[in-house]
Amino acid sequence: MGTLYANGWVVTMDDAGTEHPVGWALVEGARIAAVGAGAEPEGEHVRIDLGGAVVTPGLVNTHHHLYQTLTRARAQQADLFTWLRELYPVWAGIDAEAEYAAARTGLAELALSGCSTVFDHHYVFPRGRPGIVEAEVEAARELGVRLIAARGSMDLGASVGGLPPDDLVESLDAVQAETEALHSELHERGPGARIQIAVAPCSPFSATGVLMEESAKLARDLGLTLHTHLAETVEEEAYCRELYGCSPVEYLDRLGWLGDDVWCAHCVHLSEAEVARFAQTGTGVAHCPTSNLRLGAGVAPVRALLDAGVRVGLGVDGSASNERSDLFMEVKQALLVARGRGGGEAMTAREALRLATRGGAEVLRRDDIGSLEPGKQADLAIWRTDGLELGGAEDLVAGLVLSAPHRVDRLVVGGEDVVRGGALVRADEGEIARAHRVQARRFAA
Ligand code: ZN
Repeated sequence: MGTLYANGWVVTMDDAGTEHPVGWALVEGARIAAVGAGAEPEGEHVRIDLGGAVVTPGLVNTHHHLYQTLTRARAQQADLFTWLRELYPVWAGIDAEAEYAAARTGLAELALSGCSTVFDHHYVFPRGRPGIVEAEVEAARELGVRLIAARGSMDLGASVGGLPPDDLVESLDAVQAETEALHSELHERGPGARIQIAVAPCSPFSATGVLMEESAKLARDLGLTLHTHLAETVEEEAYCRELYGCSPVEYLDRLGWLGDDVWCAHCVHLSEAEVARFAQTGTGVAHCPTSNLRLGAGVAPVRALLDAGVRVGLGVDGSASNERSDLFMEVKQALLVARGRGGGEAMTAREALRLATRGGAEVLRRDDIGSLEPGKQADLAIWRTDGLELGGAEDLVAGLVLSAPHRVDRLVVGGEDVVRGGALVRADEGEIARAHRVQARRFAA
């Protein structure tokens, strides 16, 4: 028996950008059976009247570091490299227990902001502390969201010119062996996958060229997607020019990285030629506007990337440089920074919302999510429109984006409720917050 979500403003994010201001979506099992307007489908199903709420695809987060919820509001005035040098030694205390508490907090925040699929980039693996990625997976299963967990890595320690302290870097063999093990234990394939593994050396200033090349080879052998941080700050540009004699994008290109199985976080400092190179190679971008503003890194050229046909999604980035894991907030932030950079016509509200849904799905190479169309996964975010902040707005979709952030009223993932009435269905928000504080105290200064 299916469920009919009726009397809502359905934003499908299909190719044509179809919306049904008074519409419905029929869900059968884990998938969407039909979407439309006018006469409702007949048959045996539960009818839920949405009372004019907006229905969007569940949001897709393309860059995060869940562990950083443990260390918020540190290095408050620092640029990226200063911030990293202050925080690496703190992060060295991470273990599976702390990661589980951190992941539950970050994933709960994301779910309550309408996010149904989360990519997490974990790259801090202190020796002798197993089970960190597994702890994230456990948290995602518990809350009911989809997780793409990266087995990240660093092998360029401070003593050989890198940024992380030597005791936080790993050997190539250890990284490869653990990535392969996680792939065989946890990676799901095909439509509806709830847990996947990605390969993600941390950045050009914390991973050697050998690790970057071998990671790409392993990802391509195993059929996994490939990710890293790139072109985030002017300091990174200077670092690459000094060490490698080229820009970060040229460096990645030289290593054979750019391709349609790859996406990079930030990409704030790209030349016109580099934007074109991203388009030509099919390389995607995770745009993280709040984090880039918080660290004073700049604003990515998203309008130019979109005009060139580059895949672009949104990321909240870690909670030590955003402080909040609210993806709907990033939708508004993406719109604001695009306009701050390029003027009032640089991005529409619907384009911003598309980045967080269809765009994110394209970046993660998932064609089963990101839009509300028959056969796609039933990942729906339902937003109330009867609150104070939307009074006076006739265009409720634009109104929702412009008045963000909002707590989602209902989040459905694969046909199952994860949030209902603005509260987590499968977990207790208060308990998660309390358990997180116990772990966070272990990282206190
Ligand atoms: Zn990041």
